Amino acid sequence: MKVLVIGGGAREHALCRSLSQDPAVTELHCAPGNAGIAQVATVHPVDQLDGAQVSALAGGLGVELVVVGPEAPLVAGVADAVRAAGIAVFGPSAEAALLEGSKAFAKDVMAAAGVPTARSYVCTTAAEAAEALDAFGAPYVVKDDGLAAGKGVVVTSDRDEALAHAAACEQVVIEEYLDGPEVSLFAITDGSTVLPLQPAQDFKRALDGDQGPNTGGMGAYSPLPWAPEGLVEEVLATVLQPTVDELRRRGTPFSGLLYAGLALTSRGTRVIEFNARFGDPETQVVLARLRTPLAEVLHASATGTLDRLEPLRWDEGAAVTVVIAAEGYPAAPRTGDPIEGLAEAEAADGTAYVLHAGTKAAEDGRVLSAGGRVLSVTATGAGLAEARERAYRAVERISLAGGQHRGDIALKAAQ
Ligand code: AMP
Repeated sequence: MKVLVIGGGAREHALCRSLSQDPAVTELHCAPGNAGIAQVATVHPVDQLDGAQVSALAGGLGVELVVVGPEAPLVAGVADAVRAAGIAVFGPSAEAALLEGSKAFAKDVMAAAGVPTARSYVCTTAAEAAEALDAFGAPYVVKDDGLAAGKGVVVTSDRDEALAHAAACEQVVIEEYLDGPEVSLFAITDGSTVLPLQPAQDFKRALDGDQGPNTGGMGAYSPLPWAPEGLVEEVLATVLQPTVDELRRRGTPFSGLLYAGLALTSRGTRVIEFNARFGDPETQVVLARLRTPLAEVLHASATGTLDRLEPLRWDEGAAVTVVIAAEGYPAAPRTGDPIEGLAEAEAADGTAYVLHAGTKAAEDGRVLSAGGRVLSVTATGAGLAEARERAYRAVERISLAGGQHRGDIALKAAQ
């Protein structure tokens, strides 16, 4: 199978890494890719938001499967363009991707499907926002209704800050605060059959101890030894399947990856948000544990044949990812710094490896930082403690001027 992956972050590097290890994959392409992806796939300089360019590339290469990684191309209709060209594509239509692209739409789908989530109001004026904030009380949760790469949400006890965020957005969703630990649960679906993956947890705040600003994600681990037994089955029955059924009922079936961000609150499991694609960095740890070859799973989603797939096989061990971000991330990341120690960080036995996010190859062969999140250092082990130790050992071998990472990824869970 010839496969083209769209995107150029660590999530796409993880997807490409797994696909490159799948014996069924005869050719692997990625657009636009990054310096790390270029080591396992042929990269193509294409505008990933341009459906016509992407389908022309896919057609020209003769690929049998296109995998769309990030949310922006999905919302821009890139999967639709590829599908219209008669090529199988892993990823939802623009209409179905609104589940991520509009929080108000997601709330409407959840209400119709009976999916448990935070109570909320959609507000467009300052007066409406003030009323909604006071209805719920502190801590306040204010979400930009549009796509904001995980950075459009403000959770604060400061009413003025909550109001200011609402004023800065065209439309916001204001909702009740959900307490309790968060879980990311991904599922592969073809619009009818839903196949949950293993749960993971990510670390959204920039600094240790969940301090500092929200980011795209600073690390992740899987499995979750503290998660209640039966969580995956419960979420499949109460969240994932009803949502997929509701979207199909509306005539906008969702195929691809459905990502449920969940809060395990004192009053039960609640959906915090949906995403329409693999999460970054959770994908890095989930794929590190997946034993079923990836291409057939993604192809079965793209062709509506998931019901014929054997149950997924998983590594019983653990995986940990630590993100190295640029100085100034998330507000104003500095780019163009050389990265050293990449080869030294990798373990010969494959138990630690470096996935690239914002990197690019310079003409002199050096690898330079080129984005906010620069690397996703990933390691596996028999348990979380071992995976963690290997991941941090690898992190210490890498040097990036001003680079920052959290020191407490999976720390509590590994104890
Ligand atoms: P989202 O982009 O909706 O995933 O929100 C980003 C982060 O904000 C989540 O991972 C949570 O940590 C936090 N958050 C979002 N909604 C809520 C809520 N209703 N209650 C508490 N925290 C929330």
